[in-house]
Amino acid sequence: MTSSALSETATLDAAALRADFPILQQEVNGQPLVYLDSAATSQKPRQVLQAEYDFLTRSNAAVHRGAHTLAAEATDLFEDARATVARFVGARPEQLVWTSGATLGLNLVAYAISNATTGRGAPASARFALAPGDEILTTETEHHANLIPWQELAARTGAVLRHIPVRDDGTLDLDAAGGLVGERTRILAFSHVSNVLGIVNPVSELVDLARSVGALTVMDACQSAPHLRLDLPALGVDLAVFSGHKMLGPYGIGGLYGRSEVLEALPPFLTGGSMITTVTLDDAGYLPPPQRFEAGTQPIGPAIGLAAAVRYLDDVGLAAVHAHEARLAARMRDGLVGVPGIRLLGDAPGAERVGLWAFEVAGVHAHDAGQFLDAQGIAVRVGHHCAAPLHRRFGMTASVRASAALYNTEADVDAFLDAVSGIRDYFGANA
Ligand code: PLP
Repeated sequence: MTSSALSETATLDAAALRADFPILQQEVNGQPLVYLDSAATSQKPRQVLQAEYDFLTRSNAAVHRGAHTLAAEATDLFEDARATVARFVGARPEQLVWTSGATLGLNLVAYAISNATTGRGAPASARFALAPGDEILTTETEHHANLIPWQELAARTGAVLRHIPVRDDGTLDLDAAGGLVGERTRILAFSHVSNVLGIVNPVSELVDLARSVGALTVMDACQSAPHLRLDLPALGVDLAVFSGHKMLGPYGIGGLYGRSEVLEALPPFLTGGSMITTVTLDDAGYLPPPQRFEAGTQPIGPAIGLAAAVRYLDDVGLAAVHAHEARLAARMRDGLVGVPGIRLLGDAPGAERVGLWAFEVAGVHAHDAGQFLDAQGIAVRVGHHCAAPLHRRFGMTASVRASAALYNTEADVDAFLDAVSGIRDYFGANA
């Protein structure tokens, strides 16, 4: 990264940053690549690749239990990575559990609660036990990863699912939410930012609502962690998850943040090596968090790569990233609303957003639109984006989603808008 690309102010030089992302230098289908699929997975800068390479070529060893020098070095790097990523989300190292990603983090929580329900864990775990008729509240906007684990938990425990509705403009209906919360509400699971609507949800209102009835809050921060400065303890959520590969990091690594008293009371999900104190043939004692939730050999290289990714984001500055992406989102919106036949999802006036828009093109299937854009080197996502109930709510089965990151430029957005304006003509939908 050149020094001109680095800034603590709310500006960044995306064109300069791009030099760090080798993949963005190529042509696709004979056109310069315009990558607008970062909500699915982000591209990774050289610094992340280098951090993993350096670890694997200089310090690779299994962590925590080796007597040799490399094992000690690897352990230091692994735990330094935890401290770096924890700091990035405002947390202490012991409040960050490594997972393979958000999906595993959410399943970990749901299964730990299941285990508490069957009487496993310390006496403190009993507070998480669910009884038939207890309620788990989610929202209509959730990614399947923050929906199906709760469906399964409800099926295992006899709990009942409730859903906060979404308004036509993409905002959560907090009035309805107030009516859905009651003394049986035990869990409120919601996303910080929907991966389809791009709107930043009102976390403090949701946390207050849950706290008013003593419910546990679980936040899916997948789509906020790469774009907004997060201070998870200050947001007041009990638990939160994120995925490394969406925030410039490697695949196979993610985080589960938990308030200390919550993590300390939760029983484990996966069990085995590296998470125990003593073991007999019939029984085992478990380590405190975070190790209690990290059974087996961990993805050490990816954790070190994720630390490099968040250092990169920190060097650029999250304020600058957010401001840049907000400018790109506004430019995208201005262009899209001017194209006949485009229907935007979640176009709530004045809503705080990240840089993504999902939309429908009248008379053209999302997959056809996606292929048309791809032929021009423009990578977007099409389908239900793992949020089928949300699409059903808006009367559609699929949408096109363009999602920007810090390395996108205004020229990317303009190339995208230019191509989108040709979709309906190409497919004869204007006829
Ligand atoms: N939650 C949201 C809002 C997402 O966008 C995604 C990924 O698309 C996930 C959860 C699941 O993340 P992962 O597949 O990395 O576990």
